[in-house]
Amino acid sequence: MPTIPAPEADGEFGLIRRHFTRPGHTLPPQAVLGVGDDCALLQPTPGHQFAISCDMLVEGRHFLPDADPATLGHKTLAVNLSDLAAMGARPLGFTLALALPAVDDTWLAGFARGLFALADRHACPLIGGDTTRGPLTLCVTVFGELAPGSALRRDAARAGHDVWLSGRTGEARLALALRAGDDWALAAGLDPAQAGACHRRMDAPEPRLVLGQALAGVAHAGIDVSDGLAGDLGHILTASGVGAELQIDALPVAPALERLTATRRLECLVHGGDDYELLFCAPPEQRARIEAIATQAGTPVTRIGRITAEPGLRWLDAQGAVQTLPGRGFDHFA
Ligand code: ADP
Ligand code: MG
Repeated sequence: MPTIPAPEADGEFGLIRRHFTRPGHTLPPQAVLGVGDDCALLQPTPGHQFAISCDMLVEGRHFLPDADPATLGHKTLAVNLSDLAAMGARPLGFTLALALPAVDDTWLAGFARGLFALADRHACPLIGGDTTRGPLTLCVTVFGELAPGSALRRDAARAGHDVWLSGRTGEARLALALRAGDDWALAAGLDPAQAGACHRRMDAPEPRLVLGQALAGVAHAGIDVSDGLAGDLGHILTASGVGAELQIDALPVAPALERLTATRRLECLVHGGDDYELLFCAPPEQRARIEAIATQAGTPVTRIGRITAEPGLRWLDAQGAVQTLPGRGFDHFA
């Protein structure tokens, strides 16, 4: 598409060359052709399906103007890789569409450093993109692959399945509240190590790719928890036409969250957002196999409840009584 040229000496092309091409860096074999031509070329494993996902991060909406660029580079790719993990897919490569208000080489170098560090760890090369002037917007499309029939789809939960959660939720929500100076978060009086752990969870989520791929074909339904545990489980329940009973006391609690009031703690655990953990459903016969997969992946998993034929999400206390929980997840258009 023709655009009005940028005033910089070699504008858009110089920027792409300086920051998003990597001379001497060899692409993994699935990336037959990367940045620099009209299209990239990907070679999936014969007989496999593509898994494709796109996520956009907008300044002021998903991150603050003073966000560290390397952190942002990591997170831009991490949230997309998390979608591949949630489907059980193996990453093949990604494209990056950037709108930038101005060319700031220091910022771009930091952004590229964070982005490529994560990309290289997962052998997921940058294969193309688009660059334009505009309000700071970062959009990644990630391409992955999986064996037909093995995807962890949202519509595959069945009554009687166990509900599992990887890692633990809530720390990113607490970090957000600490940054906003919310009284309830400051009142927790976290020590620097605990607060730091929360901030890292918010800034540098680790996509659960190893776990997700190992669960493909073993677990049935799956989703990554980005908008809160309850809301995201709700997507599985709706798509599958089922309900769930979750044990409040089964939810794993980070040390930082222990310091909150019971109500705030539950709100973080259940509605937090930005967790990028995997929530998945599997028949009880798979329990031992799932525990072994989690051990091998180095990612803890916890059984937090079960899928029911009766629709709706019910929270049970230690006595098995149904409890009403506060608040709800974040919806950009609510
Ligand atoms: P076209 O006009 O054919 O769409 P562009 O001028 O937009 O091509 O891009 C030139 C090349 O640089 C293409 O290979 C494109 O994929 C790549 N590219 C553009 N912007 C980015 C970016 N932000 N990151 C990585 N590759 C990019
Ligand atoms: Mg283009």
